[in-house]
Amino acid sequence: MTTLVLGGGVSGLLAAWHLQRRGESVEVWEAQDTPGGWVQTLPWEGGYVERGPQGVLVAPGSATERLFRELGLDTRSPGHGARWVGKGGALIPVPAKPPGILTTKLMPLSARLRLLREPFVPVRGPEPEESLSAFVARRMGRGAAEHLLPAMVAGILAAPAERLSVDALPKLRQWEAKGSIFKALKSEPRSELRIPKGGMGALTKALASKVQVRCGIRAERLEREGECWRVTGLGETRIVDRVVLACPAFETARLLGPIAPLSAEALAAMPYTSVRLFHSRHAPLAPLKDGFGFLVHPPEGRGFLGALVPSWMDPACAPEGVMQLRSFVGGAFPTSPELEAWEGVMTALRQWIPALAEASATREEWAERAIPRPELGHRARLAVALGGLSPGLDWVSNARFGPGVRDVVEGLEGWA
Ligand SMILES: Cc1cc2nc3c(=O)[nH]c(=O)nc-3n(C[C@H](O)[C@H](O)[C@H](O)COP(=O)(O)OP(=O)(O)OC[C@H]3O[C@@H](n4cnc5c(N)ncnc54)[C@H](O)[C@@H]3O)c2cc1C
Repeated sequence: MTTLVLGGGVSGLLAAWHLQRRGESVEVWEAQDTPGGWVQTLPWEGGYVERGPQGVLVAPGSATERLFRELGLDTRSPGHGARWVGKGGALIPVPAKPPGILTTKLMPLSARLRLLREPFVPVRGPEPEESLSAFVARRMGRGAAEHLLPAMVAGILAAPAERLSVDALPKLRQWEAKGSIFKALKSEPRSELRIPKGGMGALTKALASKVQVRCGIRAERLEREGECWRVTGLGETRIVDRVVLACPAFETARLLGPIAPLSAEALAAMPYTSVRLFHSRHAPLAPLKDGFGFLVHPPEGRGFLGALVPSWMDPACAPEGVMQLRSFVGGAFPTSPELEAWEGVMTALRQWIPALAEASATREEWAERAIPRPELGHRARLAVALGGLSPGLDWVSNARFGPGVRDVVEGLEGWA
């Protein structure tokens, strides 16, 4: 069996790695000059910035733990740093342990008490598909959906929870299926954030070193050739038994258009969110410098979604004695125009951290159509997209398995 994987992000590299370990002959085509997709670490004066994820959640015995072990990757965990939500004009600490939820100022008392009833809420069948906010309101109460959920979801998917399908965070339904979210979380081994030495790019570099990757080849055309598939891109042609499309849904739709129109239509209807990222370096400021970062309750952010502290996660990303921040702006939220430039972002940061020193260096990235936005109806679109594929064609992506690297690693382990 010969397979060509189109797309050398973490999904495509993992698909190729799993197939190769089964003894199949696999090649990966990646449109960009380097493999990794969003999981790449870029050098920045005496340190680095991440293109996408800062780290990955790893639990004992999980697919991510197996992957790091099998790749022989050296990882470290920064431990559990404080995190905050910007709400009501101030940064409010997020409780580190479940009992803290009863005293937190993040929600009114009635909402906190309602949370205690979550283990007793009956499990609901999967149909009809709910929105993310409806799911959380049903299980945890309207207060949690209004006061807690919006910032968390903005921090992961950069979009409003009420527009998203519950399938946008696939873990939620898996936990509910076990009887209760709280009970499932209590019974599962605790995950910790882990970062490979040298940054997240070490993960995709290690994978790319184990499989055959051809960079700078964007697949342009996909056609049937008898029982096989003919793929063309940049003067190259391959005739293979199987093609695994590991590109974003919109690109997969373009390639499938002529041969699988129903799948292509469903994939083209899956929206993606763009986000503006600002990296900045400052004099360290307690307690922020020793924490994970903060997310802003979206109605108060006017498009400023929050800021992480990469120098806490991995001190090697910044020169010694420097605090590095990474601010997120825009996404699917209405955004005030000042936030398009660093000065506006600095003003937004100071609104939450008044003592923050001026930046000694800044860097901006525009992450275009970077994050899948599984809106209500995603489940049906996914079923049509996958159901319309002929034998010998498949699609793997975070838009299929879930937004984070952990979802992709678990999803592809199951897929393989
Ligand atoms: C800003 C940001 C922050 C994030 N933070 C986190 C985080 O903290 N934790 C976490 O777990 N996850 C995070 N993620 C999500 C994580 O990065 C993604 O889930 C993951 O990288 C998706 O990988 P993928 O391979 O599915 O897609 P991609 O990374 O998009 O890879 C697809 C690849 O296909 C290539 N391609 C496209 N068209 C073609 C073609 N025609 N031919 C050949 N190749 C093609 C592209 O160049 C690309 O390399 C973040 C993402 C972003 C954007």
